[in-house]
Amino acid sequence: MPEGRRLAFVGAGAVATGPAVPGPVRRPAWDHLGLRTGVGVGVEDGRIALLAPDEEIGEWFHAARLPDALVDCGGRLITPGLVDPHTHALFGGPRLEDHARRARGDDYKAIAAAGGGILSSVADFRSRREDDLVTLALPRLAMMAALGTTAVEIKSGYGLSVADELKALRAIARLRAHVPLEIVATFLGAHEVPADYRSRRDAYVRLVIDEMLPAVARERLATFCDVFCEPGVFDLDQSEAILKAAAARGLKLKVHADELDPFGGAELAARLGAASADHLGAISPAGIEALSASTTAAVLLPGTLLFLGKSRQAPARALLDAGAVVALATDFNPGSSPSANLPLMMTLAVSQARMQPEEAFIAATVNAAHAVRLGDGRGRLVVGGSADLVVWNCRDVRELAYWYGMPLAWRVYASGSPCLGGGWGISSAGSAGTVLSPPMS
Ligand SMILES: [Zn+2]
Repeated sequence: MPEGRRLAFVGAGAVATGPAVPGPVRRPAWDHLGLRTGVGVGVEDGRIALLAPDEEIGEWFHAARLPDALVDCGGRLITPGLVDPHTHALFGGPRLEDHARRARGDDYKAIAAAGGGILSSVADFRSRREDDLVTLALPRLAMMAALGTTAVEIKSGYGLSVADELKALRAIARLRAHVPLEIVATFLGAHEVPADYRSRRDAYVRLVIDEMLPAVARERLATFCDVFCEPGVFDLDQSEAILKAAAARGLKLKVHADELDPFGGAELAARLGAASADHLGAISPAGIEALSASTTAAVLLPGTLLFLGKSRQAPARALLDAGAVVALATDFNPGSSPSANLPLMMTLAVSQARMQPEEAFIAATVNAAHAVRLGDGRGRLVVGGSADLVVWNCRDVRELAYWYGMPLAWRVYASGSPCLGGGWGISSAGSAGTVLSPPMS
């Protein structure tokens, strides 16, 4: 937003600031939501300048050199913008046939044999130009923002060659110039072994370590390095070798761990001090113990297992009760989770994984920010922090995980710039803001 511009939000039914102190939350409780009534939010130059009684906010706004917008929230709820710490949002086309085949009972091997699966996304990705990929990603990010997400991690991993992985990360870097969202880039060259390396997997690991990682580090294209650590993809030794090489080049670490088998990925992530271990559908008791004794976030992706038709979910209850830092993400990708709806993941966390609504809220805000090591007050509303906030078409925090699949965001701001309701992205015409008014409750 332009310098000196002031925005003010008054008339909120409640403001949930999140916890007063920085850092992840273990064993989230209602108090961590930081619920306040009778207060509003003042924003100047993209940062939160004031959290104060409405009257004070009004006076402060009208004293501005450049008053921009005074938003009457009409009794709605204000929260921090949501943080989606695990997506594969840069991809080519959807995989519609895979979805239909799964419904006919085909497993992933049959789907791959029929020309589908992740390698079809790789072939599609390689055939596209960087410009095309940027163009495809923009409306998806607009959709994501319209649902309340203001910061998002995006992984490479459909290139699987030096040139195509760099193409992915350069495209992700270019997205930042187009959207006000905070974007965190992750290098996932070890997402899968490409077809031409299937008979020499170690050679592909060497390609990742010796050629991809140095190029990614040289161009400073990624904050994180991630590895798909699963039986038949990258084993524990290969994963560790890649992650250690990434750490030596200054990248922070993430691990796709224990999705379908208890493979030891969570323990590896904790031992290497990774920022997060993600999926964890089949995490072992030892893995739960390792994560709870570490600062490695457990990032759960309940939409993925649901979309794949699995009846099982990650043991969220055991992780939370053991004191692990639990976060939620969409895993937005064309194969196993074609949804960018993080509030929907909050619903699934409650209804499928037995999390409490306040636990789901913390998992999609402050703990999600921790999982991608975002500072600057992200995932919380704090004076001096980035003005990432959502005004919701509801009054109670528990409603975010309740009206499932519904577009509940009424106004969304990232770094003080509007993402929904008269700004960038999806226009307010036809948005939740005009359809659902007044609030749902
Ligand atoms: Zn993933």
